[in-house]
Amino acid sequence: ELEVALKVVIVGNGGVGKSSMIQRYCKGTFTKDYKKTIGVDFLERQIEVDGEEVRLMLWDTAGQEEFDAITKAYYRGAQACVLAFSTVDRESFEAAHSWKLKVENECGEIPTVIVQNKIDLMDHSVVNPEEAELLARALGCRLIQTSVKEDLNVGAVFRHLAAQCLAE
Ligand code: GDP
Ligand code: MG
Repeated sequence: ELEVALKVVIVGNGGVGKSSMIQRYCKGTFTKDYKKTIGVDFLERQIEVDGEEVRLMLWDTAGQEEFDAITKAYYRGAQACVLAFSTVDRESFEAAHSWKLKVENECGEIPTVIVQNKIDLMDHSVVNPEEAELLARALGCRLIQTSVKEDLNVGAVFRHLAAQCLAE
């Protein structure tokens, strides 16, 4: 039986919760100050989708996203993408378009989910729900709201991406 392995890249401005999301999904933990383990490019988790085993390799950036310094190697061969912004960081929301273009330039059109993280902080939201939906529609992607902290909807993001990849 063929094993399906998918390289997933997680992009978005610094501080939106990308490393936390990978950590949460692959290790089941959440910390306030996650530090990237030097030398580890990705974490993995295996799931079953429609009776098929899928190995997801979640690639983390080394934290230089603000300096436009993410290497080609990071994007190389990526088959799916999580594009994240934060409910309480307006700039991260406004940067979503350019992140989509960047991924498209490096990888072509690959299944992508827009993630609005930190919905546990909805009381302090700087992005209204209609805008978020409009963004997702403009980018042709599904929008999923998550709280990595409260462990809300994180699994749904990766199940959705895996299912999209298998359907292609
Ligand atoms: P990255 O720069 O995108 O990798 O972001 P990090 O994963 O390092 O997270 C930045 C900060 O946001 C950390 O202090 C996390 O603990 C925090 N964080 C991540 N996800 C959530 C969330 O869903 N809710 C809240 N309140 N904080 C979060
Ligand atoms: Mg990080």
